[in-house]
Amino acid sequence: MASKDMVALGAQSSVIRDLFAYGQAQAAIVGKENVFDFSIGNPTVPPPDSVAEAICHIVQSEPAVGVHGYTMAAGDRTVREGLAAYMNKTYQAQVTADNFYMTCGAAASLTISLKALVENATDEIILVAPFFPEYTVFIKNAGACPVILPPDTEHFQISPAALEAAITPQTVAIILNSPNNPSGVVYAPETYAAVAEILKRKSEEIGHPIYIISDEPYREIIYDGKPIVYVPKYYANTIICYSYSKSLSLPGERIGYILVPPQVTDAHTIYLAVCGAGRAMGFVCAPHLFQKVVLQCMGQVADIELYDRNRKLLYGSLTEMGYECVYPDGAFYLFVKSPEADATAFSEKAKKLCLLIVPADSFGCPGYVRISYCVEEAMIRRSFPVFKKLIDGYKE
Ligand code: PLP
Repeated sequence: MASKDMVALGAQSSVIRDLFAYGQAQAAIVGKENVFDFSIGNPTVPPPDSVAEAICHIVQSEPAVGVHGYTMAAGDRTVREGLAAYMNKTYQAQVTADNFYMTCGAAASLTISLKALVENATDEIILVAPFFPEYTVFIKNAGACPVILPPDTEHFQISPAALEAAITPQTVAIILNSPNNPSGVVYAPETYAAVAEILKRKSEEIGHPIYIISDEPYREIIYDGKPIVYVPKYYANTIICYSYSKSLSLPGERIGYILVPPQVTDAHTIYLAVCGAGRAMGFVCAPHLFQKVVLQCMGQVADIELYDRNRKLLYGSLTEMGYECVYPDGAFYLFVKSPEADATAFSEKAKKLCLLIVPADSFGCPGYVRISYCVEEAMIRRSFPVFKKLIDGYKE
């Protein structure tokens, strides 16, 4: 017998995957150039040249048995030392190799961190809408309950009042994601300061720490010179979940890490719990070759100029047509208010025109759609008459 929950999860389709599959099928019928697929967040900028150079150099210069062999469960010590040095230089983080656990990307970082923190079936993890839909899957898998903060549709920051109201004695952690998928918004320093003040006060009130799990796969994909925030500077009880999927355009290589900074309450115990959770779930020894590659490419980022151009082009043009768009400071998503209350109905109308945009209901934000702009600029330009036709249909 199979687990009913897992069968249901495996069988469940995702709106994004469905739209993507529809796009592929339509392309075969009407031609690729007539399908405008903004559904999936797959990086379109190639990795920096240094990635291929590092792969060649490592494979050619190091003994194969070592390169392809096991590392420690937490990852190669030299790699973790390099990471610590980088984080100390860049963010004055005051961390060491022993604060890092290498993982297979952000999804693994999140599932391990949640498993490490959750103790009881009544434990609650707070999510801020809009959020990456897989969070609810990860939280349930860890055996906890998601508690959803409604979206602040004015600024897409975090409402202090809503956060305060959501915290209970069962609150274990809050997942924050900035730059945000799907809104593209970057949380302001004031937002972190306000969240930190509430979490500190409430942690004391309920008698145990509330952790921030900071999900940061888009950390460096940030525009207009906005500063990157090192979240532990605002709130000591922060666990960072990082991934190179987007910053180095390596989503298929599955490489990232968890950082439990020493300032975290009971940091060593939490780190041991991370090691234990990684072990229990079989997430040990992240891909060795790519541990070595990220060490050699430390601090580098794929050329995000293309995303920035697409961002400006889409935001400017859609706003001019009459769409209400959230100004994106980071990541590669444009969040757009649906011209009718039902974003799924809006997305269906768009789909009929082969324009594939994702209704944000599953992101916890009904009434909005997500447009992923990690696509070819030429496709964006070809899509404009279709976007125009769509919005004009609501003006008649
Ligand atoms: N978190 C967010 C907000 C994401 O958008 C994604 C992927 O799109 C992930 C986590 C998972 O990233 P990874 O591919 O590194 O597992």
